[in-house]
Amino acid sequence: MSCLRESIRRMDGDLPELLAAVENAPTLAAMMLAAWHLGRAIAVAGVEDVLHERAQRPTEWPLCHKCGKKLESKGFDDRSLKGLIGTVSWERRKGRCPDRCKIGQVAPLDEELGLRPNQRTSDALMRAACGLAIFVPFGTARELLISLTGIEVSATSIWNWVQVVGARAKARIERQLKALLTGDQPEEEEIEAEVAELPLLIGADGVMVPFRPEGGQPGGRTVWREIKVGVLARLSERVTKTGKTVTELLRRRLVAVRGDIDTFGPLLWLESVRQGVLTAETVVWVSDGGRGFWRLFRERFEEHAHDILDFYHAAQNLWKGAKAWLDGRTRRSRQWFAQMRRKLRRGKADQVLATIKSILAQEDLSDSKRKTLKNLYNYLDTHRNHIKYARFKEWGLPIGSGVVESACKWLIQQHFKGVGMRWSDDGFDHLLYLRLDWVNGRFDDLFELPAPASA
Ligand SMILES: [Zn+2]
Repeated sequence: MSCLRESIRRMDGDLPELLAAVENAPTLAAMMLAAWHLGRAIAVAGVEDVLHERAQRPTEWPLCHKCGKKLESKGFDDRSLKGLIGTVSWERRKGRCPDRCKIGQVAPLDEELGLRPNQRTSDALMRAACGLAIFVPFGTARELLISLTGIEVSATSIWNWVQVVGARAKARIERQLKALLTGDQPEEEEIEAEVAELPLLIGADGVMVPFRPEGGQPGGRTVWREIKVGVLARLSERVTKTGKTVTELLRRRLVAVRGDIDTFGPLLWLESVRQGVLTAETVVWVSDGGRGFWRLFRERFEEHAHDILDFYHAAQNLWKGAKAWLDGRTRRSRQWFAQMRRKLRRGKADQVLATIKSILAQEDLSDSKRKTLKNLYNYLDTHRNHIKYARFKEWGLPIGSGVVESACKWLIQQHFKGVGMRWSDDGFDHLLYLRLDWVNGRFDDLFELPAPASA
């Protein structure tokens, strides 16, 4: 018999029983599970033992902040904290003013231990629960937390923590925005030298999300509102097992906001500066030519970035022109479209424009056809510098905004558009900001945790 087991057997509480469960386990799997429960109970007992000892030490009473007299002891009182090892309970001295000033009760040991007033949960437990809630619904987060840690918390508690920490995340970004607006340029994020040489890609798109009606009432008609999403990443290449070269995104960062383009613009710019828009050798802006984002590009990014019009979007407009001119889905219209699309991809936009111009010169063209083709011409002409697809390919740049769309899918679609889901403004924002901080590698900073010990 080891002395470890011998001493556990002599301990108070349920430790001997938990040890017996380990000793009587029929299989190794059952033994390890029982040992896990025992280990946690020992951890709780150990912490409580230390706390008990500390609570017995003489207390340095602070002065009453109202009258300046030294506080006096009112005796011991209970305190507990729920953490990843379970709930730890102890007793410690509480003090009060000898003149009974209304200053509430003061527990110097709580402060010494780094506890916040009214704190009932450890930051590590909140972090774990919020981390799960970023990926799964609150009820599932609760189930997963129990299965991973054995700690029981309600889905409502997790929801509350997400509101608290999400509000913290939102306040942080608002502080940074305020600093930006008063002329404080944010610092660039540290970046490895070889990654810093890669082109920086910036893209933006909008996604619709179902919200509760104004006022946040659960009843009433769903209101669909657009969430603007921006993606920033360094473009790299990777060779697959089959020998194909594919684009790889490094240091992907996301920004998103519930609001219009003027709310979104400063946020995207803030992150762009952090990601090196002012120092990167090549910056590319990929967009589908939508008016709001196009204006944003002109106002803020034009002098720093090349603009690439999403190839598939350009092709879609070509198809509209082909259909209008050659009467719908005829063979001729398909052929013409395929030919123009090929020219566009090969960088012969001038030839495409010339072809459309010659069609527009035909006198027997109907008004509606002329209008559609004229629109197509203007669209391609406006974006003449943004559809040089052959050159973009040569430079290793993407010609589609697929990366933006997949980011939108991950960030928004997957989590905020489930069956029957409808969001309140705050509920949406708080979870969104946590998701953003997670993907951007800033989630842990939201919790007041000591730095992990190095291995
Ligand atoms: Zn006092």
